Amino acid sequence: MLADRDDRLRIAEVFHSIQGEGGLVGMPSFFIRTTGCNLRCEWCDTPYTSWQPEGEWWTIEDLVAAVPVSARHVVITGGEPLLWPNLPQLTAALRAAGRHVTIETAGTIYQALECDLMSVSPKLANSDPGPHRPPAVRVDHAARRLDITVLARLLDRYACQLKFVVAEPDDLREIDALLARLPSLAPEAVLLMSLGSSVAEVMARGRWLTELCKERGYRYTPRLHIDLYGDTRGT
Ligand code: SF4
Repeated sequence: MLADRDDRLRIAEVFHSIQGEGGLVGMPSFFIRTTGCNLRCEWCDTPYTSWQPEGEWWTIEDLVAAVPVSARHVVITGGEPLLWPNLPQLTAALRAAGRHVTIETAGTIYQALECDLMSVSPKLANSDPGPHRPPAVRVDHAARRLDITVLARLLDRYACQLKFVVAEPDDLREIDALLARLPSLAPEAVLLMSLGSSVAEVMARGRWLTELCKERGYRYTPRLHIDLYGDTRGT
């Protein structure tokens, strides 16, 4: 995907909230959500960036200016922000303005850029688009969803956390096998979170998921934005 001008990105939404997941959970943060994704997860919670991408074109200058003075942390999320070739200019401008920059990515694309935390969420088999989708969509998603070479490059260059969406206890077999191929990663940098868009779903899975975390030394991450706001856009 290319911007039609070098200094613009297509943005689904910007909003000031708190980080709901991962190692910086609870941190007040300004979110910049790029639109467009190279994957098609069945349970995608932002289909307006993937299945039906939407958004306005913003200049880098306007995005930097939109960050409130009080928001030291900026999270660039998607969609897949690493699709944007001018992302390095945006992150450099945000850091020059004194912001802590997190990038949230599925980890299938590599770019060299400035950031403080690369939050990588590799997609497991449970993200399959589903039998109700055209076969070509499923084949394409399966071919793209994991790239061990890209993951290793991201881990090598950036301060990373790896965050997995877990649907069933069996998913841990896939996670363990993947992590065995990334031996430099400390268990503390691995975060597991429940699949679900309601407090009840997240809690029900969380009960057995925390036990699996205890066995392996992985971290459990809540989904605080769902606790506070439900499955609501712009939170
Ligand atoms: S990678 Fe993220 S944004 Fe893209 S389809 Fe999957 S959940 Fe949605």
